Amino acid sequence: MWEGLIIINAMYLSAPLQFVINITNKCNLRCLHCFNNSGNDDDITEKELYKLIMNISQLKPYNICFSGGEPLLKKTELINCTRILKQNNVRVSLASNGMLLNKEVIYELAISGVREISISLDGPNKYVHNYLRGDNFAFTETFKNLMLLNNLKIIDFEPTITINKVNIINFEEFVILMIKNNFKKIGIRIILPLGRALNNKDVLMLNYEDIRYISKIVNKYKNDIQIIFNDSINHLLYYRKGESIMREYLNKKVKVIVDRPLCSKHPEHEIYYLLNYGYIPNTISEDGEEVDAYIIGEFQPLEEFEGVVIAIIHRKNDIEDKLVVSKHPHKYSKEQIQALVEFQERFFDSEIIMS
Ligand code: SF4
Repeated sequence: MWEGLIIINAMYLSAPLQFVINITNKCNLRCLHCFNNSGNDDDITEKELYKLIMNISQLKPYNICFSGGEPLLKKTELINCTRILKQNNVRVSLASNGMLLNKEVIYELAISGVREISISLDGPNKYVHNYLRGDNFAFTETFKNLMLLNNLKIIDFEPTITINKVNIINFEEFVILMIKNNFKKIGIRIILPLGRALNNKDVLMLNYEDIRYISKIVNKYKNDIQIIFNDSINHLLYYRKGESIMREYLNKKVKVIVDRPLCSKHPEHEIYYLLNYGYIPNTISEDGEEVDAYIIGEFQPLEEFEGVVIAIIHRKNDIEDKLVVSKHPHKYSKEQIQALVEFQERFFDSEIIMS
């Protein structure tokens, strides 16, 4: 149960911004790419759940997101918990596959205090969505309920797509469909090698070019609809098991825009950059921002740099990895790189990956 719990920025806030609670592991679908491998019966008991909610309420986080499994399979408990949280001024959101919604359920959720629902929709048509979701009626049901939410306008919602190798070809069509139906926003998750997605990674995983394509589509439509990078982060923290999705970059030539030049100071922390450090434009890392990179073998402050990715800094206790870029592919050993990046990596449990 506690696997689904995420604490953000605990260093600076009196309480976590958000808790994600997997209220059940049961699910009415068996998606090919389910990060949580949902479907088993290993659930938290009612007593444990209410105790957890009471304890979390005391902390006064900004939001609690109920996820699963399919949280609406535990609708009674969900609504009871939401009422308790509302009384304690804690915002509640939901991540659902949208199959079990109808007008009555939407009203029940809204009245109890649910403020936002993220609904999984993995494509613009029944062929791709039903294939990924393993159910012949999934698209029809979920899309119907999205339209219902849009018409009722009593709970904020966002259709959320998990982009993978199967549906990336439909991604632009998906965005256009959402715009045409006047949805205010969409959520995007990038497929990660976790749960059932790990078992099916050969057919699902994206590569470097795919990420560039997603970035291109996001930039193309970002003024027409709000596009939000969604919550793969909590899964990543708890399930990444030593994998790095940055492997695709190894030995590739990249251009780095340097926004933290050599000898500059971090804008917020007491860190001085002992290397040029920047980002690779038109990329997306695990936190939804551009991919960051250290530049080694250069001894002047730079504005931009072209080189080869010689290593990945894999952060085991953070949500994103970093790249190491140099003009000298075979000059530096792991130990040398580790020493060079220590000025910043000393704050993380990180390892160096080289080819
Ligand atoms: S991805 Fe969501 S809907 Fe699909 S099996 Fe997992 S929990 Fe259920």
